[in-house]
Amino acid sequence: MSNVPVAVVTGSNKGIGFAIVRALCKQFPGDVYLTARDPGRGQEAVAKLQEEGLRPLFHQLDIDDLQSIRALRDFLKEKYGGLNVLVNNAGIAFKVHDTAPFAVQAEVTLKTNFFGTKNVCTELLPLMKPYGKVVNVSSMASSSALGGCSRELQQKFRSDTITEDELVELMTKFVEDTKKSVHEKEGWPTTAYGVSKIGVTVLSRIQARMLNEKRKGDHILLNACCPGWVRTDMAGPKATKSPDEGAETPVYLALLPSDADGPHGQFLSNKTVRTW
Ligand code: NAP
Repeated sequence: MSNVPVAVVTGSNKGIGFAIVRALCKQFPGDVYLTARDPGRGQEAVAKLQEEGLRPLFHQLDIDDLQSIRALRDFLKEKYGGLNVLVNNAGIAFKVHDTAPFAVQAEVTLKTNFFGTKNVCTELLPLMKPYGKVVNVSSMASSSALGGCSRELQQKFRSDTITEDELVELMTKFVEDTKKSVHEKEGWPTTAYGVSKIGVTVLSRIQARMLNEKRKGDHILLNACCPGWVRTDMAGPKATKSPDEGAETPVYLALLPSDADGPHGQFLSNKTVRTW
């Protein structure tokens, strides 16, 4: 088994994830895994970074596929005995003008952004080594979507006692409510992406609390963040930040020094803790 520290970035064959891998290859003292659901796209991305003189490693990972997540988990367990840095970056967004029914957009978006990310956490968080760092890439869209929720939902999503099961129930209810076209009446905003990222931010707050309760002595720091508005296939060419600039806050959180006792359980943008 290797004693080399290891970092994994989900959805890193392009966009912000690719830039996070690039930065980690330069700054993280260990093995950095670029992961992609499609091995061809993944290997192509690895080759691009190799041309820059960097040495990322590759592992397949489709966060929608539990078998794929578990294969990565078993690989990390066997080769490294755990994991030091996990960046949950993979995500999707329908384009504004997409004509797919809202209920379809809700189901598909929540499937990857919330349920996929949650499944990765369920399988990989137990592998986190002491002083490990977990970064969940959320979005400012989570804050604005929270503002568009009913008072009752806002209270639930801001609660310091909400459980992961309760959050899963709420995210499932959103999808069901869209299918019945009662989501607005039930207090939801009309943004599937925004609700999926509420899920990611609230999940991060819950997971940080669980780490405090169950693994206090291990000094693991877990946070959610927004990368900013970044020029990628998701956000388009008009966005204000380059992918490398978008990677800055996630990389800052992934490389917090081992003597740092925070941030933990926070939502950050531009390396600054934001009020949830
Ligand atoms: P992007 O260029 O579209 O890249 C998304 C990445 O996620 C791709 O590598 C994609 O792989 C991967 N992915 C999608 N579904 C996946 C799955 N099921 N399993 C594994 N990988 C999957 O988007 P981006 O702008 O870099 O976004 C990265 C993250 O930042 C997302 O979580 C996004 O919500 C968040 N974010 C972005 C912005 C922005 O302005 N760009 C703002 C706020 C938050 P494929 O190539 O196979 O599709």
